[in-house]
Amino acid sequence: MSLAPFRNEPTVDFSAAANRTVFADALAGVRARLGRDYPLVIGGKRVETPELVQSYNPAHPEQVIGRHAAGRTEDVERAVVSGWEAFPGWSRTPVGERAALLLRAAEVVRRRRAELAALMVYEVGKAWDEADGEVSEVVDLMEWYARQALELSSRDTMAHWPGEITEFRYLPLGVGAVISPWNFPLALATGMMTAAVVAGNCVILKPAETSSTTAAWLVEIFFELGLPPGVINLLTGRGAVIGEALVDHPQIRFVAFTGSREVGVRIYERASKVHPSQVWLKRVQLEMGGKNAVVVDETADPELAAQAITASAFGFQGQKCSAGSRAVLVDSAYDEVLGRVLDLAARLRVGDPIDPEVTVGPVIDGAAEEKILDYLQLGKGEGELLLGGSRGPGDGHLIEPTIFGGVAPDARIAQEEIFGPVLSVIRARDFEHGLEIANGTDYGLSGSYFSRDPGRIAVAKERFHVGNLYLNRRSTGAYMGVHPFGGFNMSGTDTKAGGPDYLLFFVQGQSVAERL
Ligand code: NAD
Repeated sequence: MSLAPFRNEPTVDFSAAANRTVFADALAGVRARLGRDYPLVIGGKRVETPELVQSYNPAHPEQVIGRHAAGRTEDVERAVVSGWEAFPGWSRTPVGERAALLLRAAEVVRRRRAELAALMVYEVGKAWDEADGEVSEVVDLMEWYARQALELSSRDTMAHWPGEITEFRYLPLGVGAVISPWNFPLALATGMMTAAVVAGNCVILKPAETSSTTAAWLVEIFFELGLPPGVINLLTGRGAVIGEALVDHPQIRFVAFTGSREVGVRIYERASKVHPSQVWLKRVQLEMGGKNAVVVDETADPELAAQAITASAFGFQGQKCSAGSRAVLVDSAYDEVLGRVLDLAARLRVGDPIDPEVTVGPVIDGAAEEKILDYLQLGKGEGELLLGGSRGPGDGHLIEPTIFGGVAPDARIAQEEIFGPVLSVIRARDFEHGLEIANGTDYGLSGSYFSRDPGRIAVAKERFHVGNLYLNRRSTGAYMGVHPFGGFNMSGTDTKAGGPDYLLFFVQGQSVAERL
């Protein structure tokens, strides 16, 4: 099977009236399909449970997006059994067929891009361009991992031994848990799940409660394409119940998790326990949070830097793991860059993202709103409130874009992931001090450095210790297949989604030698 070279999927240009009309129609069409009931999917069968968990529109918390079967521990058991029943057939399915399935799924996503993006506007409060960008990422992930699987199956880099026929090949691991967060509800479930499946594994997808409808639509696409039963199982419900039961299960071979540090660390500890009847050490990938910095020195283009700071801090309401929640400005550039950021941020429109003019929508739920409001209180003591600082109008979970100036590098608002539209601005003596501040957290996911000095840029490349370093551009917006994504330190296990090695997590290498 030979494929055209990988190319990133273009996004929709919403400045064109025709494209806006298409998207407005998709929003209306999806609205008519909200509030439905969704079962679990185990072994290709729809399984109802007595209890339902609901997902809501964070801009209108009374609007139900979907009602999802709440998985129980017995459902975990059945899903694991179904996965292992499907594994022998699926793992022996030729890699070309598995890759072809991903490519067909990518075609469906392209065709349905407007409705998938519209669903995310309702379910997680994404602005139009953010939701549309995520759909492009989904296509990229499918196209990229299909190519990666083919490449891995035909790799021949080993030396040979006289008198032997030797082979080194990659075998799938078995049945694994894919535990995904709500903030990229389509792309992160897709990425972890399709990488596992194209490599020949079977998975149990456990999406976040708040974005279960998006996950259910995604899984439906694979079944409509004829994926064999049991290769993908969908378990919606509470993380603390089924997520934990999956992680603990002795027949789970691997766990691919993206989410918070707190839950990730817990999974790491629990998955390391070897249970009776378990015959492997579970393989675990954890991609967690960040406290990413955008560092600006006095040689930088101040407007470019200010635009990037604003986009990095407030895009999707700051709810990206790569959000630039710290701006580290050298003393001589501080006032000018901060002034421009304040101007730009003050112009952001806060509201229901169903309106195309809105750039800052709601945060995901009431718990997130409370947590962010607590940080706003804390910030008023730790820094100088320069913008925002309160919740937004109406009953949606809206928070004003908020900027605190003069924040100390070790303040809690400069160290802890707030996951909301809150920017801490920190003054550095010079660019070296700026890099020191940038590196001075437990995390190491993404970071930006703005400078026009090539010598300093070379220094930043050496010292800025993050998994995704961006020079003279924003800290968010990695393109799959171009910017492999994953963090250092407490940001995670650095498995690098969309990179050249990501599939290696989902396989084990076997060496075969036959004496002639
Ligand atoms: P979360 O940790 O609350 O939930 C993630 C998933 O874990 C959900 O499916 C949840 O149901 C499940 N879960 C909860 N408790 C569990 C338990 N005890 N055992 C097993 N599973 C459990 O995270 P979230 O709020 O959905 O997502 C936001 C977080 O994700 C932020 O910290 C963000 O930085 C991080 N994130 C990281 C990346 C990355 O690539 N590094 C990408 C996106 C989001």
